[in-house]
Amino acid sequence: MSVAERGVAPGDWRDWTWQMRHRIRSAEDLSRWVSPSEDEARAIAELAGRFHFVITPYYASLMSRDDPECPIRRQVVPRTAEARDPAGLADPLDEVAHSPVKNVIRVYPDRIAFCVNNECALYCRYCLRKRMVGEPGWAMKKRELAEALDWIRRTPEIRDVLLTGGDPLTYADDRLDWLLTELRRIPHVEIVRLGTRLPVTLPFRVTGDLVRMLERHHPIWVNTHFNHPAELTEEAAEACDRLARGGIPVGNQSVLLRGINDDPATMKALCEGLVRMRVRPYYLYQAQLLEGTAHFRVPIERGLEIMKSLRGRTSGFAIPQYVLDTPHGKVPLQHPYVKGREGDDVVVETWDGHLWREPNPLEP
Ligand code: SF4
Repeated sequence: MSVAERGVAPGDWRDWTWQMRHRIRSAEDLSRWVSPSEDEARAIAELAGRFHFVITPYYASLMSRDDPECPIRRQVVPRTAEARDPAGLADPLDEVAHSPVKNVIRVYPDRIAFCVNNECALYCRYCLRKRMVGEPGWAMKKRELAEALDWIRRTPEIRDVLLTGGDPLTYADDRLDWLLTELRRIPHVEIVRLGTRLPVTLPFRVTGDLVRMLERHHPIWVNTHFNHPAELTEEAAEACDRLARGGIPVGNQSVLLRGINDDPATMKALCEGLVRMRVRPYYLYQAQLLEGTAHFRVPIERGLEIMKSLRGRTSGFAIPQYVLDTPHGKVPLQHPYVKGREGDDVVVETWDGHLWREPNPLEP
C-alpha cells in the first residue's frame, strides 16, 4: 500500500517530526500496517510495559503485512518469547559500574560512550540499553549534561567521545549544535562520533540543515546500525549519501540476530549493499546475554562460520569485524587462520581451505 493510500501527504511522510509524532504505540496502531499474530498481540498487551513498544511509520512500512517472521517486524514488534529468558541480564556489560558520572561509560582509557539521552525513534527488542531507553529516570537533565561535560573537561586522557543514547539525532538541531560546540571547546577531545540508528529507522532525520550543522564540528564520524538488506532502502541510501557528502565517514554496526541475519547469504547481501551505499561495515556484534533476548541469540561458532563464509568471497572492506563486547572491552572473534609454526615456516589457512607455509624465520 502506498503512502498516499494510507492517507499520508508526501510532505508529511518525509518530515521527521511528523514521523516522530505519529509513531505506532499500540496493537491498534500496528494493525494499520500489519496483521498482528496472536503471539504479537499478546506480547504487546503483556510485555510492552516491560520494554517500550514504539515504531516509526517509515520503519513499519518496510514490514511484511502477513509474515510475523519478517526480519524487519521481528526487530521491533514484541514476542512472548521475551518472557522466557532466565539467563538474561539487565546490564550485561556492567555499564552502570563503569560510569564516573551519570550516562558516561568509560571502559577504555582514552574514550567514552556518552549517553546524551534515552530516546530513540523506535525501540529494538534486543537493545543493549533496554534498562534505560524510554525510561524517564535515565533522561539527561541540563544539569546532568553539564556535569558530564565538566567531567570530560577534567579528564584530559579522553580524546574520542561517542555520543549515543538512546539516539543523539532525536535531539533538535540547535540542542545538538550546543552540545557539539561545548565538546569542541575542550582541547583534548579530538573526535566526536555519533551512534545513531536514525538513518535506518527514520532516514528523513538526516536533513541538509543537520548535515550543514554537523560539518561545522568536524571531525565528526557516524556509526549507524543496519541489520538486514531490506533496511537498505532508497531513503536510507539518500540519508547516508548526504552524510558522506558532508565529509562524515559512515560505518555500520550490526548485531548478529537469529532468524534475521544469521546466514551467510543475508550477511553478504547486507555488507555488499552497505558498501554500495558508501557505508563501511565496521562491527558485527555477538548478541549479549541480555534480558528478554534468548530467542535472538546465536552461538558464537555459528557467527564464526558466517564470517569465514565472507572471507575471499567479497571485497575485504565489506567484511566487518566480528566482536564480543565484555565489561572489559571488545574482543575480536575470528576463525584461527594461523595454524602454528613448523621450523622456519608459519602455517596459515587460506580463505579456500588450503594450508600455506610462509617462510618466517624467528629473529636471530
Ligand atoms: S536504536 Fe539503538 S539504542 Fe535505540 S532501541 Fe535500537 S538498539 Fe537500542
